[in-house]
Amino acid sequence: MGARAVVGVGESLHHGQCLCGAVSYRARGLADIWYCHCTQCRSLTGHYLAACRTTQDRLSIAGEVVWAPHSGSSEHARCALCGSLLFWANRNTDTISVLPGSLESSDGIVERGHVYLCEKGSYYEISDGLPQFDRYPDKGLSA
Ligand SMILES: [Zn+2]
Ligand SMILES: [Zn+2]
Repeated sequence: MGARAVVGVGESLHHGQCLCGAVSYRARGLADIWYCHCTQCRSLTGHYLAACRTTQDRLSIAGEVVWAPHSGSSEHARCALCGSLLFWANRNTDTISVLPGSLESSDGIVERGHVYLCEKGSYYEISDGLPQFDRYPDKGLSA
């Protein structure tokens, strides 16, 4: 992290869409999935959030999405028609995350770990063996 991402020739292209198909997207640079267990993400999703990050210049969105406040400087976006959760972005950064349930293919994308365990729900356990962080890891992911 730290270095500004550049569109790489070899980066694979991923496609995704919402439940009804009114919104679709193309993204490059998707590689890591992080699971967020914070209060806002749990309220929003009904469980916890999966997010796969890239930079805004590597994501193109077709169709109407509705952005809404998430927490702090972050927002999430849904399809304006069917309400599928599709994107999450922190407005203080140039990054944007797609919610990987909307991906047609997840080739080359791997799960990295769990964040915000300090606000995790008490009704479930995490037993996938991935790294867990009270908030965020010191390196490798910025808020
Ligand atoms: Zn839709
Ligand atoms: Zn969260």
